[in-house]
Amino acid sequence: MNKKNNIDIEFILVEPSHPGNIGACARAIKNMGFKKLALVNPRKKITEEAFHRAKSAKDILENTVIYKSFDLAIGEKNLILATSARERTIPWPTFYVDKISDEVKRQIKTKTTKTGIVFGREDNGLSNEELQKCHYHLIIPASEEYSSLNLSHALQIVAFEIRKIVFDNKILKTEVREVVSNLENEKLLEHLMEVLKKIDFYDPKSSKQVKTRIDRLIKKTRLDKIEMGILRGFLSKIIDFEK
Ligand code: SAH
Repeated sequence: MNKKNNIDIEFILVEPSHPGNIGACARAIKNMGFKKLALVNPRKKITEEAFHRAKSAKDILENTVIYKSFDLAIGEKNLILATSARERTIPWPTFYVDKISDEVKRQIKTKTTKTGIVFGREDNGLSNEELQKCHYHLIIPASEEYSSLNLSHALQIVAFEIRKIVFDNKILKTEVREVVSNLENEKLLEHLMEVLKKIDFYDPKSSKQVKTRIDRLIKKTRLDKIEMGILRGFLSKIIDFEK
């Protein structure tokens, strides 16, 4: 399906520790018609047990991409969705997985979008820092008493919801804007911080959250390449400006 629709979606597991879960995730990915599984620093190798749990999704396991760091996994993506069982300290744009907004659905279906869907460690999920590097958070609504699902079960549900989006032809596919990658957003953030320090707007010691909030703002706007060029040019001019 990825090939037919040209939709690029990678399911990324951060430091998974159970080979069985990795195999079950591969199976869920293939069952739902997707192809790409990636691991960030897996704590265990892809063992026999993983292949046993993958059943007929061995091809997905064999083609698994291994990234050395979280940043490398998301660097080339321009839409990053993080899954989490609970809301975190700084509220981030968050959807229940079955209630993703039409705008985000449109982004997922856009041909130039490279989506990464990120899943956390079995024992302690994703860190706040990792979550804040993503554009949107997805929560599977579950019992308040026990909301943390098994990793592969969570992936199965998310993949099912994404499958419905990818196949729903009522949603427009036409977003002509080419949204920039995460790396380009990071460069903009650093550039902006440099300017804010230069004009004495920002003291990194006293206002640590400013950077995080501006980061969130940049991610929310989903800049395209032309907008990014204008902003970077503007910031460079400020830095070079002498009265
Ligand atoms: N104990 C961890 C959860 C680990 S479950 C914690 O509280 O953060 C492993 C991963 O499965 C999570 O990091 C998340 O990616 C996914 N997951 C589990 N339950 C989920 C839920 N209710 N909604 C969204 N993702 C969930």
